[in-house]
Amino acid sequence: MGRRQKKSPEVHLNLNVRGLTESATLAINERCAALRAEGKEVFRLGLGQSPFPVPPGVVEALRANAHQKDYLPVRGLPQLRDAVAEYHRRRDGVDFTGEDILVGPGSKELMFLLQLVYYGDLVIPTPSWVSYAPQATIIGRQIRWVPTSLENGWRLTPEMLERLCREDPTRPRVVILNYPSNPTGATYTREELKGLARVAREYRVVLLSDEIYGEIHHQGRHVSVSRYYPEGTIVSSGLSKWCGAGGWRLGTFAFPRDLRWLLDAMAVAASETFTATSAPIQHAAVRAFEGGLRIEKYLTHSRRVLGTLGRAIARRMRQAGLEFPDPKGGFYLFPSFEPHRERLLARGIDSSVALCRTLLDETGVAILPGVEFGRPAEELTARIAYVDFDGAHALAFSDSVPASSELDRAFLETCCASVLRATDRLCEWVESGGAASS
Ligand code: GLU
Repeated sequence: MGRRQKKSPEVHLNLNVRGLTESATLAINERCAALRAEGKEVFRLGLGQSPFPVPPGVVEALRANAHQKDYLPVRGLPQLRDAVAEYHRRRDGVDFTGEDILVGPGSKELMFLLQLVYYGDLVIPTPSWVSYAPQATIIGRQIRWVPTSLENGWRLTPEMLERLCREDPTRPRVVILNYPSNPTGATYTREELKGLARVAREYRVVLLSDEIYGEIHHQGRHVSVSRYYPEGTIVSSGLSKWCGAGGWRLGTFAFPRDLRWLLDAMAVAASETFTATSAPIQHAAVRAFEGGLRIEKYLTHSRRVLGTLGRAIARRMRQAGLEFPDPKGGFYLFPSFEPHRERLLARGIDSSVALCRTLLDETGVAILPGVEFGRPAEELTARIAYVDFDGAHALAFSDSVPASSELDRAFLETCCASVLRATDRLCEWVESGGAASS
């Protein structure tokens, strides 16, 4: 279980950090760019980058704040911390104040700092995002994997968490919950969240709830687990996914009062590392977190577009015999190719890495192997990020279709043709037993 590690001693000596390779999400992006530069046709379903532009009001705010040049407070611009707290009060119904917020250059950096200052195990359900475990490995924390199953929609259950905690009830732990999920697109119901919260409270675990895809729950019905375990949940968010601003690098953590000491410790580490998050970006982020009608409209159309596309490719992939839970939010699917195992094996495809490498070579479709998400190397699973389309065009199209109608095939063919083609290629490839398709 876990990430591939490079074995070559040469690489070990020269390049790696504790046996790790470069993050898979970033590596696939660079590989795709290189293939395109060689003139190859590549469908970029590897990196999970929002296809949508940053909302115009937020871009205007950045422009208006380009002159902001001073170092800001380590914990973040006070006005932004207040806006983030108000955002969580409004969205999640949890009583945060600006004092409970920590701003960082991406939530990824904040997750790293959390593990750096907290001496405890990191509990990661699998499949899960590619960087949680490598961060723990870099810092030297113990990782406890909790494998979930396709039958259960790749989700953590209270029983799984309880089983793990019962082994050593007082051990300090950070448990990661991420939903809508990267890499599966699945989410949790209120009852399921309550069950997880009950166990988390019983064993006093720190719950790191990575809700960065919460705003792009396809029905707009995301519920934060912090409602049910407010005293022990850190809610992670940021601009990267719902605001289309991954490259701006702005993430936020909202802490319960009982965990203020953790925020304080992270702020010390931040002061000695990144100092403070970029000033113009923080000023612009105030506009994003304040929300308002234009942002709501942007989110409504983002959800509609992603929901429509997610359902369409899910239908096509099920026809091809792939198995996965229904997409409920975000922009990922995590299909199992196991129903095709025999035919793929006959072609020498015996791991998720071989699966993705061959698929890319033979069809130009770039997706990421399940092993990068903590699944066993031989399991034939992979993540598809259905983001290779022009988000601005899709939002404008959606805006022209009344809310009472569905976005139909014409929308998909006009705005998301590349993702449809990539899905067809992938499906034809798998239906023909992994033979090259044109
Ligand atoms: N979260 C995105 C992904 O899973 C990319 C950002 C990253 O990994 O740093 O593809």
